[in-house]
Amino acid sequence: MTVLARLEEPYEAIREEARTVAAELEPLAEAADARSDVDPGVLAVLRKSGLTRYTVPAAYGGAFPAVDPLAVCLVREQLMAVSSHADSLFALQGIGSFALSVAGTEAQRRTWLPGVATGEVLAALALTEPVAGSDLKGITTTATATGDAVVLNGHKSFISNAGAAGFYTVLAKEVLPTGEAGLSAFVVPAGSPGLSTAPAPELIAPHVLGDLVLNGVTVDDAARLGQPGHGIGPVLATLAVFRISVAAAAVGLAQRALEEAARHAARREQFGRPLVRLGPVAGHLADAWADVASTRLLTYEAARLAGEDPRAHLEHSSLAKLAATEACSRVVDRCVQVMGRWGLVAGSRIERCYRQARAMRIYEGASEVIRLGVARQLASEVA
Ligand SMILES: Cc1cc2nc3c(=O)[nH]c(=O)nc-3n(C[C@H](O)[C@H](O)[C@H](O)COP(=O)(O)OP(=O)(O)OC[C@H]3O[C@@H](n4cnc5c(N)ncnc54)[C@H](O)[C@@H]3O)c2cc1C
Repeated sequence: MTVLARLEEPYEAIREEARTVAAELEPLAEAADARSDVDPGVLAVLRKSGLTRYTVPAAYGGAFPAVDPLAVCLVREQLMAVSSHADSLFALQGIGSFALSVAGTEAQRRTWLPGVATGEVLAALALTEPVAGSDLKGITTTATATGDAVVLNGHKSFISNAGAAGFYTVLAKEVLPTGEAGLSAFVVPAGSPGLSTAPAPELIAPHVLGDLVLNGVTVDDAARLGQPGHGIGPVLATLAVFRISVAAAAVGLAQRALEEAARHAARREQFGRPLVRLGPVAGHLADAWADVASTRLLTYEAARLAGEDPRAHLEHSSLAKLAATEACSRVVDRCVQVMGRWGLVAGSRIERCYRQARAMRIYEGASEVIRLGVARQLASEVA
C-alpha cells in the first residue's frame, strides 16, 4: 500500500531497518502478544537487531548525539504493525531511560545507558499509583532525605516492565527544606532492599505490567534525577518525546488493520461484486486510509519539531498523540466492520488489532487530558 510520507536519509534507511526486523518478528508475534511477561525470543531478536540503540544518546552506545524522536517513531511504527509486545519492549527502553539522558549525572548515564542501548538492561518509568493517574500531583509515594541517603515508601501501579527492568525511574513526593512539598525523581535499581513487585490485572491486550512496592527503599542521594523538587522536568521531557512515539505506534497498527481489511474486501464477493466495490464498504476503507495517511504526516512532522526542541513544541506532540490514537481506534473499528463476521474471530489479526488499539488513548496522556491542554494553548494563541 502506498505510504505517502517521503523521508530523507538516514530516516528512509531506519524505516527499512525496522521493517526488516519486524518481518523477522512476525512468526513470534501472536504468541508474544498474548504474554504478560517478557518473551525471550522477541527480546533476543531486538537485542540482535541493535534497534534499541535509537533510545539513548551516542555517547552511551546510541545512534545519534541525542535521542532522535523521528527515528524512535519510525521504529515503533514498524514494530507495532507486527507485535505490540515488541513495540512495548523497544519503546520502554526510551521511556524508562530518557530522564537519565536529559537530566542524569554522568555516573548514572555510564551505569545504565550502555545496557539500555544494547537491550541487555530493560528500563521502566514508575509514575502511576492506585490513587494517582492523570493527576500526577496526587502521588503519595514519599522520598525522605536522611543525610546522604533518601528513603522511598509507596506503591506504583500499572508499571510496564515491572519485574523485568534493571532499574526504575521513580517519581516521589518530597518535603523540601523550605517546608514545601515537591516532586523528585530517582533511579532505583531492581533488587534494591525493600523493592518488590506484585502482579497487575490482566489487560484485554496483554502487556508486561506489574505493581512496584517501595517499602523503605534506601538509595544514595546520588540516585536523584535533577534537584530535589525538580523531578517533574525530566518526566515531562520524556512524555513530550515519547507521546509522539505512541502516535507512531498507532499509525503502524492502523496501517496493519487497513491492509487486513483491504485484502479481505478485495477478495470476498457479495451481491456479485467484491466488497470493495460496494459503496459504503469502499467509503470505510477510503476514510480509514485518509486517517492513516494524514496522522502519519502529522506524527512525522511533530517528531521532526521535537528533534529540534521537545519542550518548545509540546502542543504538536499532544496533537499527534491525540489525532493518531483516536484515528487508530476509528480505523480498526471500520476495518472490523468491513470484515463482517471474520472481523470478530478470536485470535485473528484484526481482532488483535482491535484489542491493542484501545490502551493507546489512555496511557501517556489520556485523550481528554490532552484535549484540555491543546484547547488551552489554542485559546492563548488567539487571545
Ligand atoms: C498498558 C498500560 C501501560 C502502562 N504503563 C505505565 C508505566 O509504565 N508507568 C506508569 O507510570 N504508568 C503506566 N500506565 C498507567 C497510565 O499512565 C495511566 O493509565 C494513565 O495515566 C491514566 O490514568 P488512569 O488510568 O488512572 O485514569 P484517570 O486519570 O483516572 O482518568 C480516567 C478518565 O478520566 C479522564 N480525566 C482525568 N482527568 C481529567 C481532566 N482533568 N479532565 C477531563 N478528563 C479527565 C481521563 O481522560 C480518563 O478518560 C500504563 C497504563 C496502561 C493501560
